[in-house]
Amino acid sequence: MASTESQSPYFVVLGAGVIGLSTALTIRDKFPASKILIVAKHFPGDYHVEYCSPWAGANWCSSANDNGLLESFDRVTFGRFQTISQDHPEAGIQSSALRMIYDQKIEDAGILSKGTEKVWYDDLAGGLVPVAGDELPQGAVFGLDIPSTFVINTQVYLQWLLAKCRTAEVQLVRQVVETVDQAFISPEVTAVFNCTGLGSYSLGGVNDKEMYPTRGQTVLVEQPIQPLKRMYFRSPRRVDKDTTYVFQRPLAGGIVLGGCRDDGNWDGKVNLDFAKDIMKRCCALAPELGKPEDLKVIKHGVGLRPNRKGGPRIEIEKRQTGFVVHNYGASGAGYQASW
Ligand SMILES: Cc1cc2nc3c(=O)[nH]c(=O)nc-3n(C[C@H](O)[C@H](O)[C@H](O)COP(=O)(O)OP(=O)(O)OC[C@H]3O[C@@H](n4cnc5c(N)ncnc54)[C@H](O)[C@@H]3O)c2cc1C
Repeated sequence: MASTESQSPYFVVLGAGVIGLSTALTIRDKFPASKILIVAKHFPGDYHVEYCSPWAGANWCSSANDNGLLESFDRVTFGRFQTISQDHPEAGIQSSALRMIYDQKIEDAGILSKGTEKVWYDDLAGGLVPVAGDELPQGAVFGLDIPSTFVINTQVYLQWLLAKCRTAEVQLVRQVVETVDQAFISPEVTAVFNCTGLGSYSLGGVNDKEMYPTRGQTVLVEQPIQPLKRMYFRSPRRVDKDTTYVFQRPLAGGIVLGGCRDDGNWDGKVNLDFAKDIMKRCCALAPELGKPEDLKVIKHGVGLRPNRKGGPRIEIEKRQTGFVVHNYGASGAGYQASW
C-alpha cells in the first residue's frame, strides 16, 4: 500500500457501470476524507454494447439461492432500494408488485435456497402469494405473486448515481486502461477497485477467461393509457435462456419487454425477428399490453450480462503495484446486488 497513515487514502475505481458508481459512493461513506477517482471508458449517457448497465430491465428479483454471500448482497441492496425509493423518488427506483410464472416444478425452478428449501426473500418482499390455478397461463406449472419489490428506470438511476458521485466530489476521468496496473496512476493510490464487468475478460493483468457474455435483447415500448398494476416474469427456471419479462419503468420510462439469456453470445446487433417474438410472448403474459401489432416501439436494445463461471469475483488481490479489489461478474444481478 503506497499511502502512509498521515495521508488521506486515494482510491481509483475502474468502471462506471452500476457497480463502479455504487462502489465509489460506498467508499465515500466509509472514507469521507479520501480522494476518489473513477476511470472508465463509458459513463452514464453512453450506449455501447461493451457497457451493460444502460441495457438492463431492471428489477429486484433475487436469483441467489446460495443461502450465503450472494443472498446477503441482494438483501442489503433491497434495504437500500427501500430507502432510495422513499427518500429520493427522483432516483428512478419504485416499489412494484411482480408476478412470477414458472414452467417447471418449484423444486426444479432454482428459486429455493440450499439447505432451507425456501424462497429466502419471502418475508422481505411482503409474503409471496401463490397464483390461483385458473390465473396460470397455459403450460405453466406454478406462479408466485411478490407483493412488494422494486423496478428501476436504469437511465434515470445511473444519472442519479453519477450526480451523487459529483456531489460527493468523486473525480471522473474518461480513459481506456490497458492493464489493471495502469490504474495506479500515482504512487499515492491506496487501492484500485476493478469494476470493469465483462471488460475483465480482456483487461491486462486480469484476463479472466472464466468471464463470458450472457446476451439479452429487449424492446422498450410506450406505456398503455392504463398503467400496469405489476411486473411480469415467466420462465422455466429463475435463470434460463427462455425468459419473458415485462417491467414498467417509473418516471414515464416506458415498458421494457424481454428477453433472453444467451450464454457465450457476443453479438451486439438487434435481431428484429426475435424482437417480434419477444413482443408476442409479452402480450400473452401481460394482456394489459394489448396486441403485439399495437405496441409502439421506442427503442430496441441488446446488452451483454457480465457472467462468470463460479459466480462474481469479489476479492482482494495484492499485486506489485498495490491492492486491487475485484468486483466484477455480476451477470444478471448487477443492480439487485449493487450495494
Ligand atoms: C437485458 C438485461 C436485463 C437485465 N436485467 C437486470 C435486472 O432486472 N436486475 C439486475 O440486477 N440486473 C440486470 N441486468 C444485469 C446488469 O445490467 C449487470 O449485472 C450490470 O449492469 C453490470 O454492471 P457493471 O458495472 O459490472 O458492468 P458495466 O455496466 O458493463 O460497466 C463496466 C464499466 O467498466 C468500464 N471498462 C471496462 N473495461 C475498461 C477498461 N479497460 N478501461 C476503462 N474502463 C473500462 C466500462 O466502460 C464501464 O464503465 C440485466 C442485464 C441485461 C443485459
